Amino acid sequence: MESRTFKNKVQEFIRERVISKLQLAYFAVDEQMKVRGASSNLSDYGFPKLDIGKPVDEQIDFMIGMDAKTELDLPVVGSPSGIPISVSLMPDDDQLTVLISNASTATEQRQLLQQAANENELLVEQQKKLMSELEMASQELEQKNRQLEEASRLQTSFISGVSHEFRTPLTSIIGYTNLVKSDLAKMSEEMVPRIAKQDSDDYLSAVQRSSKHLLSLVENLLDHGKLDSDEINIRPKPTDLNELFRDVELLLTPLSTTKDIRFDIELDIPSDFEAIVDDSRLRQCLINLVGNAIKFTDEGGVSLKAKLENESLNVSVSDTGLGISADDLKKIRLPFFQAADTGKVGTGLGLTITERIIEMMGGQLEIESELNVGTCVTFSMPAPLIEPQLAVEQQLSVNLTELRVLLAEDDSDIADLVVMLLEEQGVNVRRVVNGALAVAALQEADFDIVLMDIHMPIMTGYEAIEELNKQGNTTPIIVMSASAVEDDQERAKGLGCAAYLVKPVDVQEILSIASMVIDVN
Ligand code: ADP
Repeated sequence: MESRTFKNKVQEFIRERVISKLQLAYFAVDEQMKVRGASSNLSDYGFPKLDIGKPVDEQIDFMIGMDAKTELDLPVVGSPSGIPISVSLMPDDDQLTVLISNASTATEQRQLLQQAANENELLVEQQKKLMSELEMASQELEQKNRQLEEASRLQTSFISGVSHEFRTPLTSIIGYTNLVKSDLAKMSEEMVPRIAKQDSDDYLSAVQRSSKHLLSLVENLLDHGKLDSDEINIRPKPTDLNELFRDVELLLTPLSTTKDIRFDIELDIPSDFEAIVDDSRLRQCLINLVGNAIKFTDEGGVSLKAKLENESLNVSVSDTGLGISADDLKKIRLPFFQAADTGKVGTGLGLTITERIIEMMGGQLEIESELNVGTCVTFSMPAPLIEPQLAVEQQLSVNLTELRVLLAEDDSDIADLVVMLLEEQGVNVRRVVNGALAVAALQEADFDIVLMDIHMPIMTGYEAIEELNKQGNTTPIIVMSASAVEDDQERAKGLGCAAYLVKPVDVQEILSIASMVIDVN
């Protein structure tokens, strides 16, 4: 009983939801084509109420000539009501069922389907077109990107090239100015009147200041270019941090003294360990930060604090100077940015470079500042500790009068300067102007050390060093180059050179390296 009720319900459901939606009507005939039964909604299409047991072709026109065995689909047929109908003849074992549905809805649906299919095709076409446009745009973008990268690479290498070219003449300017200044200081009043001496000294100081500024600009530009092209490598090595900080103090105290401001340094670094850090890069960052603090402070002072704790180096540089406005503080890390109205000379690169290097060393830089109150820059970076290595006993004093130096340098200004400075110290110098002559000179005579420029005509410094290596040369070679590019330094190291000095080289630096690398009895 229950199942019948359920069946009835399903039939009712189908009738209501499906059949009524499709406006489906039907009738069935037996093998003799006599009506067996029909749905009541046949009348919706204008058909008469069918008489059961009577031949169907007498009652419905489109059944004339049909038989009970043929399966047939008539997509559109007229009905007495005028509504187009679809008719499906479905033969079964002993009867033929005829289904009738509203063909106008079907046609409409077909049209809609066709329309949807067309639209879909159109959309697919449009999508294809868009995809190919997108592909082209992304290819163009990629090409533009490559061009931009290439342009930026060329710009960087141009800046590096130009900066590099500036180094050599700057070496002469700075060297000769120092020389004239020290000669002037030695001159008595009979030789130069006091006023003229003072004036000349002032002029020379101005030349010194400007050329030093130019040199720092060149160095900053070179560093910035290197940072841009990832050419800076961090090379940590065991370092006595106390010594490093004291060096920075020694170097910068004269600046604070000139400005008549305080420069305090407070160190809390255990002295029985060495820290593994890149000493020259850390020194560069400290000089930049303390240099800035002194530069932007006219009253009060600067304080440098460093504490080594849990293998981390925490540094703060605070000053009571001009300070930085909140607006400027947001832009301060951008390359070439300088706050307006400070009235100080600079490049706007120091802070950018310092921050990047500190990040490369695994640290982080923070800046706090208040206009007209002061600035505090802090950074922390990893500084793993090791027990100090036993210092190799080194011969630190060299009998300079016995030192025989071969200088290979094609730039006569630089060569004259280096020769003069070395000879002033009593060193014996022989000068040649290219690599081939250096090789020849070493075959002819003994030298304690070779100072080798790299870019020289006929035979470059590298070619000469390679040739000398082939010949089994044992004389230590110090490369002196205007190129601060690390690849060059690596190449020199690979060729077994004793040291690589970047111009402008300091004669004291040459001598201290000489004292470490040669064996003078
Ligand atoms: P530079 O000092 O060569 O101009 P920096 O990149 O080192 O370049 O600094 C960028 C700018 O940040 C400076 O021009 C200055 O306006 C500001 N600045 C940096 N340090 C300080 C400081 N200690 N006090 C005040 N202003 C500072």
